[in-house]
Amino acid sequence: MRLRGCHPDPFNSVASPVAHSLAGFWAFLLLTFRSKMHLIAACRRYLPQLILLVLLANLADFDFLFGLHRGFTHSLATAVFVGLAVSCVWRTAGTFWRSATLYFLAYGSHLVIDLFTGAKLGWNASDSGIPLFWPWKREFSSPLILIVGVKHEDFPALFSMENLQSSSYELLIFGVITAALMVLWARHQKGRAMPHQCKTPASAIYNSNPDAIE
Ligand SMILES: [Zn+2]
Repeated sequence: MRLRGCHPDPFNSVASPVAHSLAGFWAFLLLTFRSKMHLIAACRRYLPQLILLVLLANLADFDFLFGLHRGFTHSLATAVFVGLAVSCVWRTAGTFWRSATLYFLAYGSHLVIDLFTGAKLGWNASDSGIPLFWPWKREFSSPLILIVGVKHEDFPALFSMENLQSSSYELLIFGVITAALMVLWARHQKGRAMPHQCKTPASAIYNSNPDAIE
């Protein structure tokens, strides 16, 4: 992990909301991992929770509303604060600490993705860095770039062929990870439903108490 004094380019490549939203969806899969529902049913039943987690995974980038770019919102301190604050209001995972941890993971996924996002894949210095340990102002970045970010300084850059390629790559990588996690999730649900299926085949797939997300 490298240190950097300040942003060299305020319009450096950033991961798109698609990547962050899918990471929020991964947090949702974690939340509903123990439920006994089909994934579509779980998404419908727990749609507000899904929306919240996707929002949390994107929240750090809302600093642009205040004229900032990768500011203090991209720090572990803010991730902890947001996790605790949201858990005070809504405990989707049952207890305060489980919910706070889940929110922290959803928010923190943004920081991890940004750390590994840059203009070029591989070992290079094409990332812009984030103030991970704010209020310490030093910026941290990974020397290994795994995600090619999109450029957003103006409309021509936003709709450029380069951005189309990086968006497609991002969609492919995050899509494959999401598909793999969904398969694992579905297999886990099937494993949990099997013993019940012997007794009540019709009702085994769906949870008799859908309110309980353990
Ligand atoms: Zn960001």
